Amino acid sequence: MEKNQKFKAGRPCPACASESSVVDDSLGIWGWEDWRAGYRQCSQCGTSFADSIFSPEQIGAWYSRQFSYPQYESPLKQLDARTRVSFIREKNWLPKPNESVIDVGCAAGLFLTSLKQAAPNSRYTGAELLPQVAAEYSGKRGISIVTLKEIEDHSVDMAFMWHVLEHGPEPQELLSQVLRVCRPGARLLIAVPNRHARGFDERGSQWVWCQAPWVHCVHFTSAGLSAILSRNSITNGAFHYRETVDSFHLAFLNMPDWIPTREGLLRFSELRSEGGEKDLGSFLHSWKLWGNADYLRRARLGRWLSELITSDRQRSELLCMTRLP
Ligand SMILES: [Zn+2]
Repeated sequence: MEKNQKFKAGRPCPACASESSVVDDSLGIWGWEDWRAGYRQCSQCGTSFADSIFSPEQIGAWYSRQFSYPQYESPLKQLDARTRVSFIREKNWLPKPNESVIDVGCAAGLFLTSLKQAAPNSRYTGAELLPQVAAEYSGKRGISIVTLKEIEDHSVDMAFMWHVLEHGPEPQELLSQVLRVCRPGARLLIAVPNRHARGFDERGSQWVWCQAPWVHCVHFTSAGLSAILSRNSITNGAFHYRETVDSFHLAFLNMPDWIPTREGLLRFSELRSEGGEKDLGSFLHSWKLWGNADYLRRARLGRWLSELITSDRQRSELLCMTRLP
């Protein structure tokens, strides 16, 4: 174990601050180099969180060496960005002209690029956590990307946090940074993997959105997300649930290697191999409909089928849309 990695098995829930939690065996024990960590689950709000705390420097080092930023420019992620824009359009939540809009943890800026096409008269800035990522992607698609720290206090009308809050070892710290840059009355959207998702219930550590505890440090329930927002005086959130094109209940229809076998100690560097659902996956892959369709079409169809068979609150993604006081 590295010196900076602190084990605090009994630490309070980072969502609701309850002191009571139990080991969450279903999400596995993870390893990378000499790091080892698993999860605990809050007895109060059901949120699962890393049983170890990694320093921001350690996490930054992991992202620099291991995180696949180029994947965030792939056609699948472009489709994902478009479905996010469709969702907020359905909810009548497109930015208004001249509003200042940020996307926190924007990676290559695909979401803002799509959003700009839907609402061209707003002002868009990507906000990254690592300076080298901001520098690499800034301007590449006509969107300026800076670090969150560089954004002025109370300057933002609308902030999006698509799958970024679960990446913070201390989500309150990240949320505080975002709230600092928002004006009073600003709109905020937070989307995270849903701890009550069918993927977690049925596949546990094998599900695609169950990732190492230094990557997805917190897996929120709606009660947990509601609690951390309440602790910041935000009590008017509307909660929604979606299947997404990059993670849906029937994801093995799209990419069989998304269903790995993970037993005991998991090494992040290991390639995910087909596991217990191989036979079912192979059968469905040989099915003519899927075999003849490209993977983006399969992602669309798989998402649609997953939404049909999955109850609202068991869908993969949990979203909260709120207006700040
Ligand atoms: Zn909790």
